[in-house]
Amino acid sequence: RASIEAARKPFAMVQWSAEPMVASDPEIGATDPVINPARPGDTVGSVTWATTDTVAAACAAAKPWDAPAAERAAVLNKAADLYEAHYGEVFALLAREAGKSIPDAVAELREAVDFLRYYAARSEGPDPQGVFACISPWNFPLAIFTGQIAAALATGNAVLAKPAEQTPLIAHRAAQLLHEAGVPKTALQLLPGAGDVGAALTSNPAVKGVAFTGSTETAQIIHRSIAKHLDPGTPFIAETGGLNAMIVDSTALPEQAVQAIVESAFQSAGQRCSALRCLYVQEDIAKGFTEMLTGAMDALVIGDPWIYGTDVGPAIDVEARDGIISYVDAAEAEGRVLHRLPLPGGGTFVPPTLIKVSGIKDMEREIFGPVLHIATFKSKDIDKVIDAINATGYGLTFGLQTRIDDRVQHVSERIEAGNIYVNRNQIGAIVGSQPFGGEGLSGTGPKAGGPNYLARFRKHPAPS
Ligand code: ADP
Repeated sequence: RASIEAARKPFAMVQWSAEPMVASDPEIGATDPVINPARPGDTVGSVTWATTDTVAAACAAAKPWDAPAAERAAVLNKAADLYEAHYGEVFALLAREAGKSIPDAVAELREAVDFLRYYAARSEGPDPQGVFACISPWNFPLAIFTGQIAAALATGNAVLAKPAEQTPLIAHRAAQLLHEAGVPKTALQLLPGAGDVGAALTSNPAVKGVAFTGSTETAQIIHRSIAKHLDPGTPFIAETGGLNAMIVDSTALPEQAVQAIVESAFQSAGQRCSALRCLYVQEDIAKGFTEMLTGAMDALVIGDPWIYGTDVGPAIDVEARDGIISYVDAAEAEGRVLHRLPLPGGGTFVPPTLIKVSGIKDMEREIFGPVLHIATFKSKDIDKVIDAINATGYGLTFGLQTRIDDRVQHVSERIEAGNIYVNRNQIGAIVGSQPFGGEGLSGTGPKAGGPNYLARFRKHPAPS
């Protein structure tokens, strides 16, 4: 811990900047400050946006990376080394731009490095799709950004990367490190921008494949755009939202279950697509279990992720914060809030909240914050609970806490989810051993960090 804090400290006041990285010299857009969500007075740096003209220039300049697979692999491994060597700066950027605590930042850097090394080890060619658009979200601004790019580069594509508008600085720094490692400027270009820049990318005929992580709604827009503007056979790899549930029955170990729930629902302030949203507790134990859970919630420290020991950082921005708080206020007005933590002042903080529902069907959409819903069920009705969870149409993560072996088997067979977690916390990918991805409205597959993923980035997918 001390060495991590010491490595991060020199970057407490640094001003970073991000601008389009394009292999020609195109027109660029306006410049805006980037503000720390946990500390409104802390300007982290500035971003100069790409415009639709910048996108057109980048598309024209993109060249698939035709180096031999072994050379591309060596460059990706070198990039992984550089990411690791710059860990202090990376953790500082993740804290100040994205609101990530040290443990979250450590996990995120680990995942990004794992993606680089995993895809490097599987570098292939020479049959890339050509030019891949990689559109990434703000909630894993390093790991997902890097994972998409590494997969596309490992298969010899040129990448046009559009990071989320909330997190351009960490993306820009990562792209610099990838270039420094040896990725050609024509094989990796960066386009900081919002949805309009993404839309310009996914309608440019130079683009031959799209990797996207974000909301289900945006995935549907991109899907339509591909159908309209690009060859309808264009590969579209989408990782989207979820309405993730967990079932806790009366045989579960309560301490283990409570810890898993708190981590799954509230870490990263609930801003993970894998996060637990709806908890089903068996009726017989519900009263005591809920008390244990609210007690554990009370122990959470909400605040600035720069301070070691913070459990729950801010929402990513004011708009996200206001959306979550108005949702919680509405539930409170209906008398459904069982527990709501008080908030520190200053940043865009949101209260960890427990809201009563009759079942997952009451939840119309994913609330991307530290808001957990709780329902009860009778043991004999467990199949109805499974049906209700499947009926949401999403299928990302699912958790089960039980000591009945037959039930593990029974539930796992019936639940429609990309990732199932038994007697543990519900988190995302472990590159190589736990590929991550959803079904239904939660994504197209194949799973990131898994053996079939790279095939979608190539022209002639190998049979799997
Ligand atoms: P979130 O709700 O997590 O911000 P979004 O789906 O809005 O999720 O954003 C994920 C990524 O998709 C971001 O990089 C965002 O800028 C981008 N994006 C948003 N709208 C579009 C669009 N119409 N076309 C392409 N990309 C888009």
